[in-house]
Amino acid sequence: MGGKICYVCGKENLDINEIGLTKKLLNRDAEIYYCLSCLCEHLEVDADVLLGMAEEFKAQGCKLF
Ligand SMILES: [Zn+2]
Repeated sequence: MGGKICYVCGKENLDINEIGLTKKLLNRDAEIYYCLSCLCEHLEVDADVLLGMAEEFKAQGCKLF
C-alpha cells in the first residue's frame, strides 16, 4: 500500500487523519493531499481544531476515516 505524500511540503506517509481531512474538507475525490501542518496553513486553523474535527467525523461514522 503506497503512502500518500503532502502536495505542499512533500511529507511522506500521511496518516489517516491527514488523508481523511483533505478529502472531507477540500475534495472528496482529491488526488492531492495535505499533511496536517500544510492543511492548517491552507485553511488558516490550528492543528488542534483539525484533529478535533477528525475525531468528530469519526464519531459520526464518516467512511473517509
Ligand atoms: Zn505538508
